[in-house]
Amino acid sequence: MLIFKKVADLQSHIAKQKKAGLSIGFVPTMGALHHGHLSLVQRSKHQTNSTVCSIFVNPTQFNDIKDLEKYPRTTEADIALLSSVDCDILFLPPVEEIYPPGLDTSLDLDFSVMAAVMEGEFRPGHFDGMAQVVNRLLEIVLPDQLFMGQKDFQQMSIVRSMLNQLKKPIKLVSCPIIREENGLAMSSRNRRLSAETKANAGVIFETLGLVKEKVDKMSVEELIAFGLKRLRQDPFEAEYVAICDGFTLQEVKNIEDHDFVVVFTAVWVEKVRLIDNLVLKGKTYLNIN
Ligand code: AMP
Repeated sequence: MLIFKKVADLQSHIAKQKKAGLSIGFVPTMGALHHGHLSLVQRSKHQTNSTVCSIFVNPTQFNDIKDLEKYPRTTEADIALLSSVDCDILFLPPVEEIYPPGLDTSLDLDFSVMAAVMEGEFRPGHFDGMAQVVNRLLEIVLPDQLFMGQKDFQQMSIVRSMLNQLKKPIKLVSCPIIREENGLAMSSRNRRLSAETKANAGVIFETLGLVKEKVDKMSVEELIAFGLKRLRQDPFEAEYVAICDGFTLQEVKNIEDHDFVVVFTAVWVEKVRLIDNLVLKGKTYLNIN
């Protein structure tokens, strides 16, 4: 695996690969890698000729400076994991390569409801920062295909909207959520949990599964109340349970009126914020752009 830290070096390597007719797959991450990330790399390896994974903890998408400071950084282990799945290129830039002084990387896009609900409501500015860094990375890597996880469903929806608004000729490939044995969605943040809480955190996916089982028997309001009650038991404290249209992310009133419906949650435990979602109705994968 080749490792690049400088934009110019990466770009000149990719330019040669493109000239040789190779297609480029891209997996942007913030590191502290786990099998969820590796599944994206493997999918990219399967679908493209050369896979670039980036590790960059993007300061502009953290609305809480303590969260940024506490974000796990495990570069040596990440390099070993990426090598184990034969990732072709790792891009590991310092902040000044992504945001060099004088370069305007800001974006003026309209994500309307999509960026205002759920994560957008509870993490102000998060999606502007996320879109800014993904766009900057896409301009550097110029991939043919971009691989993202449904674990961050809202993020993926916003990136899809960004690609459409900017008319970028990049295929967005949405990849399924990889989970621990107890159902907990794999996340870099899970390493901040105690072993006991990690074992008990299966309750999040279990609750989403129960909501799905009850879809025909309860109203949307009742389903949300049921989910909140179950996910607000000490030490878990749900921030929200939301049932939304999978295309627009608008909250739904009646599930029957929509073809694609997803339940979302964010849950605090041991000062760690965990997110998860489950498709209640319709497509399980969102490869539609
Ligand atoms: P992050 O490093 O958390 O910014 O995630 C980088 C990419 O990996 C994003 O596209 C995530 O959606 C994806 N990802 C993170 N966790 C998982 C998971 N458990 N299963 C599948 N994809 C994931």
